[in-house]
Amino acid sequence: MTSTPPVLARLHGASRRYGGLLALDGLDLSLRAGQVTSLLGANGAGKSTAVGLLLGLLAADAGTVEVFGLPPGTPAARRRIGAMLQSAGLPDRLRVRELLDLVRSYYSDPRSVVDCVALAGLEGLLDRRYGKLSGGQQRRVQFALAICGRPRLLFLDEPTTGLDIEARQGLWRAIRELVAGGSAVLLTTHYLEEAEALSDRVVVIDHGRLVAEGSVAEVRARVSQRRIRAVTATDAGAVAAWPGVREVAREGDVLRIVTDAAEPVVRRLLDADPALHDLEVQRAGLADAFLELTRTPDREAA
Ligand code: ATP
Repeated sequence: MTSTPPVLARLHGASRRYGGLLALDGLDLSLRAGQVTSLLGANGAGKSTAVGLLLGLLAADAGTVEVFGLPPGTPAARRRIGAMLQSAGLPDRLRVRELLDLVRSYYSDPRSVVDCVALAGLEGLLDRRYGKLSGGQQRRVQFALAICGRPRLLFLDEPTTGLDIEARQGLWRAIRELVAGGSAVLLTTHYLEEAEALSDRVVVIDHGRLVAEGSVAEVRARVSQRRIRAVTATDAGAVAAWPGVREVAREGDVLRIVTDAAEPVVRRLLDADPALHDLEVQRAGLADAFLELTRTPDREAA
């Protein structure tokens, strides 16, 4: 029997208002050791607010927030946390090495500079001034600063925005290494392939509320959408009018359909064209699932 890894931080029924706007509405979220949890949601869904509560940068209006069993923001909790937020506000004039030494000095057992450089891909940048680095290089420095204290709990708020493909993959490798060492990571990202590649758990929020939670496969399975592909002469415009069909596109001989009703649509396709061939039906990817889960219009009213 495999044991469930311990919860290092949690929100329980957490709500937060900004004036009249309810940005988080009774959110439950648990971050477990050795797991990447991805917090997904459209712009303004409440992801940064949730991170702000766990870091103790914001206070909850209702519910509880615990980090290592302590209130967030206490010095004992902060020593075991690393965070890479959307805005870093680091001094432009300091060199990368000076920044690293400064932040490492806050911790009793910091990661070596060599390890930080290797994990964050900072080769050749240590003597450069932070303010003179490119946006992607600055993001890598921010990642190095977030991990230099060997955090047990790491918050990464859109960490790969602005990174090129190689740097992004380097950062993914580093995240996997940290998690394999037992750290818990909370990742917010708009790149669904990133969430798909890294996450042990996915939490989808919409207007501050949880709409789905589970492994990537479980969240995908929550949605009924399927993608159908077939070589057929059937008219795309006619298929678009069939019940349960959301999208239809033709590319040469190939017809591509997104549907909520795979079986009836497949039956109808086969009836319509006995010469149909190369039929494929696929479950929705995380991107499709995410869109379907956050599209429900009646959630607005609540
Ligand atoms: P994004 O993907 O754009 O970063 P997010 O999911 O992180 O969005 P939040 O930044 O948590 O969303 O914002 C949630 C809601 O709260 C939004 O409607 C936002 O406009 C509002 N909000 C956030 N911070 C403040 C603030 N300081 N004052 C007023 N409203 C705020």
